[in-house]
Amino acid sequence: NTFQQLGLEENILQAINDLGFETPSEVQDKAIPILLEKESDLVALAQTGTGKTAAFGFPMLQKIDVNSRTTQGLILSPTRELCLQITNELKLYGKYYNGLNVTAIYGGASITDQAKQVKRGAQIIVATPGRMKDMISRGLVDISKIEYAVLDEADEMLNMGFYEDITSILSHTPQDKSTWLFSATMPKEVATIAKKFMHNPIEITV
Ligand code: AMP
Repeated sequence: NTFQQLGLEENILQAINDLGFETPSEVQDKAIPILLEKESDLVALAQTGTGKTAAFGFPMLQKIDVNSRTTQGLILSPTRELCLQITNELKLYGKYYNGLNVTAIYGGASITDQAKQVKRGAQIIVATPGRMKDMISRGLVDISKIEYAVLDEADEMLNMGFYEDITSILSHTPQDKSTWLFSATMPKEVATIAKKFMHNPIEITV
């Protein structure tokens, strides 16, 4: 398949071209058509370095409304480094969407600055669970209208003890959103999270 055949629109195809990506990776090939066409939950077993950021990032960018300042997409990731990496990748992938605002939220940096950025109208928030929960409880962020939630490296997040934080964060999101879970492994804890928060997810393995 080509990126065009996956159903991606011109804004993204142009960015892909700029980045020099020639063909979709396996996880992109499998996930993108599903995420673009169906409002379904997804469980994807995929290692890091397989192109999974674009696998969820392209569809999310294509589906959100950049003319709105409402937060529509939330991506939870285990570490500050990963959070910043995903944010930077999404900015590159979404460079032709005028008005796109992707904001990173993570511990160890000024919460005031992050709150200011959110307030400017972040359509997509990429966050680590601890800081995200903190900002929700302080009323600094509103995720009550998100349509897409990504749990990236779910096994790592659970290994790091973020189960309670993730549960708490997701309790502030709408029931009818789509949830996309990516994990390198599928231990019992990940299966439990998938069962608790997802509805008949489509499963893919790469
Ligand atoms: P990720 O697994 O999302 O961290 O991606 C790993 C690296 O592969 C990143 O540097 C991406 O920019 C790059 N990448 C993602 N998709 C593709 C692709 N289809 N072709 C070439 N490189 C890609």
